[in-house]
Amino acid sequence: MQQFLNAKLADGSLADLTVTDGRFSAIAPAANNPASLGAGAIDLAGQLVLPAFVEGHIHLDTSFYGDAWRPHIPCTNGFDVRERVAFQMQNLEQAAPMEERARNQLELCIGNGSLAMRSHVMVDAAVGLKHVETILAVREKYRDLIDIQLVAFPQSGILSSPGTAELLDEALRLGCDLIGGLDPASFDRDVKGHLDVVFGLAEKRGAPVDIHLHDGGTLGLFEIEEICARTKALGMGGKVAVSHAYALGDISAEALAKAGEMLAASGVSIMTNAPGNHPFPPVAALRKAGVTVFAGSDNIRDSWWPYGDGDMLNRAKMIGYRSGFYEDSELEAAYDVVSHAGARALGLEGYGIAVGTKADFVALRAEHVPEAVVAVPKERTVYRAGREVARNGEVVDSVGLTGLRSA
Ligand SMILES: [Zn+2]
Repeated sequence: MQQFLNAKLADGSLADLTVTDGRFSAIAPAANNPASLGAGAIDLAGQLVLPAFVEGHIHLDTSFYGDAWRPHIPCTNGFDVRERVAFQMQNLEQAAPMEERARNQLELCIGNGSLAMRSHVMVDAAVGLKHVETILAVREKYRDLIDIQLVAFPQSGILSSPGTAELLDEALRLGCDLIGGLDPASFDRDVKGHLDVVFGLAEKRGAPVDIHLHDGGTLGLFEIEEICARTKALGMGGKVAVSHAYALGDISAEALAKAGEMLAASGVSIMTNAPGNHPFPPVAALRKAGVTVFAGSDNIRDSWWPYGDGDMLNRAKMIGYRSGFYEDSELEAAYDVVSHAGARALGLEGYGIAVGTKADFVALRAEHVPEAVVAVPKERTVYRAGREVARNGEVVDSVGLTGLRSA
């Protein structure tokens, strides 16, 4: 049993938290009892306690974080997924070993307080299952520190990269949790053919779905409609996500209202990282319609862009900033996107600060959630199952990282 005293909860109250076997077993108003401190309790001294953040979309296999700096190569004629994938292949040939890069990125995320993550992992005819095998092994080593869902991700399309459908199936068999997809229209130029494979594998393996969709406007909206229809038909509500869904950011208000209703009714969630100057899904309108909107860092120092710091609180700030969120309730919504809504989208069990939930939490100095979102205090302590695992951005020595790295 471990006790944490004087924790400030999101509602502003001060509480004493008791953790037993990695879960909160009691939450009581702060008793201000100095005798408990003598018994080994940790005094949080009024720090704000938040459930560990949810990193809902990242690429553990393709980041260069901790490796040499890779200057960004611009597309020759506007944003082009196919061209970016080619740049990525060039860069990866010269990169440090994938395991090392993946661990660098994982430790960055854990250090900042994310203890649950969804990572897409590239599967295509050229790399086969190499990335999947490496990242599966890394996940195993870090199992005690962070929960990781892996998406078998067809980075080079499915129909345009023959053999990929079989590889995706094999990736799921090996241990990937979800089946991914990529711009069925613009990449494979066959919406039905692409989605037949994705949802066919989802059905065969009982796997949730998370599709990268950069296609904009009415084309992207058409694909979202198709994804919602298949989700409904298969009874997969709550188990399907569309990542990016840029289209939702550049359609009319009327079309958006319809799309919001459809997404909410079919149980399809939307992931956004508030990308640069690109149109992105209107977070407030979608939430109001009942859509689960969650977030991820997506690319961190990779071939797509040089940004990303693995800090989901900072991501909440970016989402709030780009969404024009100023009121406390709006800042709280931005925080919800990187925490509770993320947990819902990922289907996490035992998330939150309540009796019975997992004691995975972050303690930091902020008056309340809205202030935390705008101030993004870098000084913070991260607890996994009630045990300190990171402090001020660094995984602490006591978790035995050296052992993990050499194992
Ligand atoms: Zn991505």
